[in-house]
Amino acid sequence: MLMSAPAWWGDVGTTDPSGWRPRTLRHKQTLFLNCIARLINHAHCQGWELTPSDFAVDEERIRKVVRHCTQAELQLIIGHRLGGCHSMKIAGDLNLFIKGRIKTTHCPEWDVLGKHWKSLHSLCRWGGDFASKDYNHFSITHGGRS
Ligand SMILES: [Zn+2]
Repeated sequence: MLMSAPAWWGDVGTTDPSGWRPRTLRHKQTLFLNCIARLINHAHCQGWELTPSDFAVDEERIRKVVRHCTQAELQLIIGHRLGGCHSMKIAGDLNLFIKGRIKTTHCPEWDVLGKHWKSLHSLCRWGGDFASKDYNHFSITHGGRS
């Protein structure tokens, strides 16, 4: 195990630790980062490399700087859904490298990582399950968003 889990987590590695759920967004941010650490470790054990792409988006800071644009323009700048999981700091996009080559389309390794991600906690969602097939997106669901 890469690190010990916080006491409120429950049994790490189970899909539903005795009915426990994080109560707050901050708890989910901690859960997200712990799960990302475990996902990175899992990929490393396979001999694969992960690098960070888009993680947290400081939407409020961007709104302060870019005041005179439409919501659609703001979403283009942010690159993610406004008020979504990236803005809530419970989502991250990863780059996957197999034998030094980046995988930008679907491949079996993304499926392995997605399956592992979803095994870490019942709140974990993987973009490969989305209609948009966002294979490099890993998130914790909050308020109906993933
Ligand atoms: Zn994403």
